[in-house]
Amino acid sequence: RVAVVGSSNLDLVVSASRLPRPGETVLGENFRTVPGGKGANQAIAAARAGAACDFVGAVGDDEFGTRMRASLVDSGVDVRGLRTVAGPSGVALIAVDRDAENFIVVAPGANGTLTELDADDRATIAAADVLLLQLEVPLAAVIQAAGWARADGTTVVLNAAPAAALPTELLDLVDVLVVNEHEAAVVAEVASDDPAVLLDALLKLVPRVVLTLGARGAGYADRHGLRVTVPAPLIDAVDTTAAGDAFTGALAVGWAERGGANSADTVTASLRWACAAGAACAQRPGASTALPDRPAIDALYDA
Ligand code: ADP
Repeated sequence: RVAVVGSSNLDLVVSASRLPRPGETVLGENFRTVPGGKGANQAIAAARAGAACDFVGAVGDDEFGTRMRASLVDSGVDVRGLRTVAGPSGVALIAVDRDAENFIVVAPGANGTLTELDADDRATIAAADVLLLQLEVPLAAVIQAAGWARADGTTVVLNAAPAAALPTELLDLVDVLVVNEHEAAVVAEVASDDPAVLLDALLKLVPRVVLTLGARGAGYADRHGLRVTVPAPLIDAVDTTAAGDAFTGALAVGWAERGGANSADTVTASLRWACAAGAACAQRPGASTALPDRPAIDALYDA
């Protein structure tokens, strides 16, 4: 069982031949709305990957909130911990040009009200094998959730996205840190693009680190001296948006199912399976809509 405490946003996406300069208006096309937010995406990723998954978060009392709640329910996520609060839902305004270059403005809305969790949330976290966290809701809630998980024996997996330097108070509660290369450099406060250097620096902060490497796969290191590198499946990447969320959601599921990091074999299997999920997501256009189900993940895992 996986519990996610995190954000949900509605992505408002428009395509244009090029991005506007400040003050300029360009004509766009192809407007679409897509449920997103790293928390909701990772909860959907975990549920589609086959886990029982609870989502603790907040949406506004607007039509966007209704839409996002429905999208979580459609993927089988348990939303008893999803609050509806007065005011707007979180939104991301996204413009994308022909070269897939984008700009994004996020207004957290209801996500910003998630400052304090309650006894029901604590019970949800205690009942999970893995608690999955990101950094798109107030840090106070992230730290509170992680503290309860630690006290109640639930493994804390933190995806440090969007990239930020982290307080010791939170780092001390993390069992597994999941980062891409950019996030790794920011969290470790090290300017390097060498995965081994990044992993070493991060191991000074947390006991286990998973580093995603895009088309090159992923690496793992822990304080017991175990190091694993797995390649990503060879695929034709169409759209890598949400590949990191697919990876992280599936990693949490694999970690929960295999009982953690008890051997090099279980770590390798969890990482390979998460890479299969990231690759399966990258094979399809779209963000949360492209998050793969278990058969799609297994197909690339077995290939
Ligand atoms: P983020 O999207 O957070 O920057 P990455 O780009 O590292 O994260 O991608 C996350 C995971 O998704 C990778 O570890 C890999 O498993 C998978 N992935 C991403 N891009 C590709 C690709 N082009 N080919 C195969 N797998 C990919």
